[in-house]
Amino acid sequence: MIGRGTSTNRLLVLGSTGSVGVQALEVAASDPDEYTVEGLAVDRNTALLAEQVKRFRPDKVAIRDRAAGEAFRSAYGDRVRVYVGDDALTALCRDARAEIAVAAVVGIAGLPAVLICIGRGMAVALANKEALVAGGALVMDAARRAGVEILPVDSEHSAIFQCLQGPYARQEIARILLTASGGPFRGMGRERLSTVTAADALNHPTWRMGAKITIDSATLMNKGLEVIEAHHLFGLPPDRIDVLVHPSSVVHSLVEFHDGAILAQMGVPDMAVPIRYALSWPKRRADGSRRLDLTVCGPLCFEPPDTRNFPCLELAYHALRQGADRCVVLNAANEIAVGLFLHNRLRFTGIAECVEWALEHVPAARADSLEAVLALDLETRKRTIEYCEVL
Ligand code: MG
Repeated sequence: MIGRGTSTNRLLVLGSTGSVGVQALEVAASDPDEYTVEGLAVDRNTALLAEQVKRFRPDKVAIRDRAAGEAFRSAYGDRVRVYVGDDALTALCRDARAEIAVAAVVGIAGLPAVLICIGRGMAVALANKEALVAGGALVMDAARRAGVEILPVDSEHSAIFQCLQGPYARQEIARILLTASGGPFRGMGRERLSTVTAADALNHPTWRMGAKITIDSATLMNKGLEVIEAHHLFGLPPDRIDVLVHPSSVVHSLVEFHDGAILAQMGVPDMAVPIRYALSWPKRRADGSRRLDLTVCGPLCFEPPDTRNFPCLELAYHALRQGADRCVVLNAANEIAVGLFLHNRLRFTGIAECVEWALEHVPAARADSLEAVLALDLETRKRTIEYCEVL
């Protein structure tokens, strides 16, 4: 790995006011000898960004929203370099000299920035799963060429990554098992699901997260995106990636090896653990936060996912088997559909309908360059919005 050694690690936190970004900064704050913050990037939450700038003293910040960004620049432009607008995130990454980029932006918006950070030799602590779903081959190829690590922050992928430490582990995998909480609507039938609201969905039973991922968890699309993410991170075909519903979220995922042994990674459901591991890898840093007590956590229950009432998981497997261009379409249609659902403009069951329609109707296209991926993403968004308007 380039640049990580005995000295302080400079961090870029892309999406610093989101759930993962905030927790990544807490990890940095807990170990100031190890981490400094070079740059922060946000969408529009400049109130929280202002607090972060005072506390972490980054050299530069990026703000996508133009009005919020200009106001921030007038107030803080004398103490920090401020990039504003749609290109702010990529401009910040291009000028950065950090050792580690925490990619915690939501959606495909993070993909260009991730590629720039890799090209500049930064290790990427990756929470932005959509970047891998839409551009997995691009990201993994770029990382191989640059000789940098993609360190998973997603709890399931961190679990698998932890189970795969050791010189031979990657050659000895039989399959991986991703666990899923099942979301707030586990056990419901389609009729009931067609009436649930965004507010119902945002009440996740075990994890506290942003709105997009919480809705994705409720539809099981989150697990579908994670299957595609795992395919890219660990180089396995779809038939060697299985999903298990495990409502208590104690086992974060498992690896079965070719001798039949299964390793699991367990712990309290707390994103600080995978974030800290990604930032400190290959070491583990001591931490005094909550510990798992196996005598009180109850029985560990597992069941197969309900793909009849929650079709998004199968749609993701289908896209992965079809190839890179369908994964771009899957992701873009889902981002649009989730946005419409959050604004009460689409039924919950309409999310899967939109994605399925897009997978069938958006014409095949190349997805072998960043430009091609972004063009197909845009085309899918346009067509999906048109389709949703007649739903
Ligand atoms: Mg996850």
